[in-house]
Amino acid sequence: MSNSPSIFSRIVAREIPADIVFESDTIIAFRDIAPKAPVHVLVVPKTEQYSNVTELAAGDPALLAELVATAQQLADEQCGGQFRLIFNTGENAGQTVFHVHAHVLGGTLTEGSLGF
Ligand code: AMP
Repeated sequence: MSNSPSIFSRIVAREIPADIVFESDTIIAFRDIAPKAPVHVLVVPKTEQYSNVTELAAGDPALLAELVATAQQLADEQCGGQFRLIFNTGENAGQTVFHVHAHVLGGTLTEGSLGF
């Protein structure tokens, strides 16, 4: 974990703007600034203690379950309940923000493709 707050912690603190679609005591969700699908929301635990989904699963499985339930709730609201859930894990897998987050992609996605 770096010493300075992550970009997502700065969104939680309202230091930088975001299109926030959900917030609870533990989780925030907002639209990705560079959407790769008709619906592209990031679901983020407010804590930046965990840098990726593996750490989150080991450290706080209940929070991971809450994050997945939030993804479903947002997909229910925004794209008929069907969605792709992506956790990039590691630089070579395309992770750029090391504060764990799920990409919720919905709308019409390319059949058979796992990419964005
Ligand atoms: P990842 O590459 O999995 O680490 O995902 C990071 C995501 O954060 C990318 O899809 C970015 O487009 C998105 N992102 C970066 N900065 C912001 C921001 N200020 N507001 C919303 N999304 C952002």
